[in-house]
Amino acid sequence: MQLKDKVAFITGSASGIGKEIAIVFAREGAKVVIADLNKEAADATAAELKATGAQAIGVGMDVTNEDQVNAGVEEAAAAFGGIDILISNAGIQIVHPVEEFTFADWKKMLAIHLDGAFLTTKACLKHMYAQGRGGSVIYMGSVHSKEASLLKAPYVTAKHGLIGLCKTVAKEGAKYNVRANVICPGFVRTPLVEKQIPEQAKTLGITEAEVIKNVMLKETVDGEFTTTDDVAQVALMFAGFPTNALTGQSLVVSHGWFMQ
Ligand code: NAD
Repeated sequence: MQLKDKVAFITGSASGIGKEIAIVFAREGAKVVIADLNKEAADATAAELKATGAQAIGVGMDVTNEDQVNAGVEEAAAAFGGIDILISNAGIQIVHPVEEFTFADWKKMLAIHLDGAFLTTKACLKHMYAQGRGGSVIYMGSVHSKEASLLKAPYVTAKHGLIGLCKTVAKEGAKYNVRANVICPGFVRTPLVEKQIPEQAKTLGITEAEVIKNVMLKETVDGEFTTTDDVAQVALMFAGFPTNALTGQSLVVSHGWFMQ
């Protein structure tokens, strides 16, 4: 029980990577907040966790909406007695070549990935600083926090930007024992990635199997997808780490796709 009674606020946790982190954290004793745009799916995920004996609540919110973020964090803090861990994970993907990207899609991507990270961080830090028991902020970056790929200009830009936010929060949070780190996964087969496979096949004029083998997994050491559990285990390590020795870092979990 590495996270016994810690309160974990996890955005985008009604699906994919965030949901797996919620499952692993609940198993480790955390009280988990399933914060997602899809309120129905958030409630269903919370109900699944409660059925296993965990403490969980679903909160409907759009991470780009300041009022909804503040209300969601206040609701969670009131229900569970504060906030100890933030996983800023909600995200989407839109792929086009730069010259075809609409300004509206560019802004939407930056809003979800960067404004969402900022707004949830600001709302949760308020509680972490006031509580005086430290905290852990974890951003869901990507290999695209370190490396670029075709067709993903705003995603790559936003994921690089999260590292800057993380480093600043690590410096400002240190005196309150609040740590900040970024997890940088390679391709994980979640709905976000399933959607990209046919889209990239169409844009690049190749088959879906070729997208997987020659685009997504080409640079890995073994041609394997990273799993949601791989990412959740790294989140657990960051969340449970007891000192400021591990802060301001970004860790790539990608089957060797990107080595630093
Ligand atoms: P997913 O589509 O399975 O889940 C994303 C969740 O975020 C969904 O439940 C969705 O409802 C929620 N969401 C979307 N917009 C939101 C908003 N505005 N406010 C609140 N919730 C919102 O995707 P995933 O693959 O699990 O991705 C989670 C994170 O991991 C994203 O930040 C993504 O960029 C990152 N990531 C994914 C991969 C991958 O290969 N899947 C790799 C690296 C990084």
